[in-house]
Amino acid sequence: MTSTRYLDPQLDFVHEPLPVRVVFGAGRFSGISEEVSRLGLRRLLVVCTPGKQVLGESAARLLGDRAAGICAAAQMHVQTDTAEAAVTQARSLSVDGCVAIGGGSAIGLAKAIAVQTELPFVCVPTTYSGSEMTSIWALTENGEKRTSRSPLALARTVIYDPSLTTNLPSTFAVASGMNALAHAVEALYAPESSPIIALLAEESARSLAVALPALRDTTVSNARALAFRGSWLAGMCLGATTMSLHHKICHVLGGRFGLPHAVTHAVVLPHVASFNLPASRDAEAALRRALSSNHPGTALHVLASAAGITDTLQSLGLSKQDIATAADDVVAQPYHNPRPVDRDAVLAILSAAWHGGPPERQSDH
Ligand code: NAD
Repeated sequence: MTSTRYLDPQLDFVHEPLPVRVVFGAGRFSGISEEVSRLGLRRLLVVCTPGKQVLGESAARLLGDRAAGICAAAQMHVQTDTAEAAVTQARSLSVDGCVAIGGGSAIGLAKAIAVQTELPFVCVPTTYSGSEMTSIWALTENGEKRTSRSPLALARTVIYDPSLTTNLPSTFAVASGMNALAHAVEALYAPESSPIIALLAEESARSLAVALPALRDTTVSNARALAFRGSWLAGMCLGATTMSLHHKICHVLGGRFGLPHAVTHAVVLPHVASFNLPASRDAEAALRRALSSNHPGTALHVLASAAGITDTLQSLGLSKQDIATAADDVVAQPYHNPRPVDRDAVLAILSAAWHGGPPERQSDH
């Protein structure tokens, strides 16, 4: 019998892999000096968040006399003045490259330096944000976050060492994993999706669905490596596609209302997936397989809540009045989405995520 799945694949696409060297495995961080010397780099600025300065110092120690200094000023949503100060530090130290160690915030600051100075950089991610695999960079000024893509914002080498994620608090680890899942979900219905991206996204979702429930159990030694594998694949998907409604909503909630990045993704994703998937049969089928559920939106909610995410947009600090303002911002400019979006649809999604609970099961018929 011929499977109908193979009669309707996406056979009109462009696929352009991004040239990033990936080094993956427990203990790989100790080889950072060899990785930077492979790139011919001799004077490096280590970039991290203030809370991860100790990690920045370990990177500097491993780099030895290749470490020129540490910039521990990274913060969520890179502010223009923080980026300017970091660029000044990089120039005054005459560095020839940077090492970003930490989550999306540290990587985001290294990208801002790279775009303005054309310096190459190496990433050592310690969360599942996926930023290390993309050429997307952003600056925030007066509450407005502007995002662009640039080849200069692409890391030369990424070192995934799961042992660096053992201190990541499990609730944040799950939220960060949901952020990665959001990349996989939206890549499945992105206009630039391709057979390769569809495979990566489905496999990413499968890895994360297995890893996330195990992240709180420290006896499951492989869970963090599996989550990293999933976030790496999701990061490749994010780097190759443009995101839709879910990312637009989270972008507005983070940029304008200051909501924390990863957990906001965890709270919003089940509701947007439930809204969008009935309009994208291939994406829905892939997620049914990956999540072993006939209702992927509900499965995403169960996954997050069973793994310890009980937040709502209300508990994250969004006021009820802000819902209408956020909905206005989300529909202010057009963008790709598999299902037509209007203000009422966004209001319904935001209200559901504000109150919490499982998403409404929807159909486009
Ligand atoms: P983050 O980098 O802000 O990290 C959150 C907190 O966890 C920080 O205080 C950090 O110091 C700490 N932390 C990081 N790793 C740790 C570890 N292993 N153990 C203990 N604590 C650790 O959060 P994030 O969610 O990784 O990144 C969010 C930022 O990344 C946002 O600004 C978002 O816009 C950006 N982002 C960008 C892209 C892109 O492609 N450009 C993709 C995803 C996210």
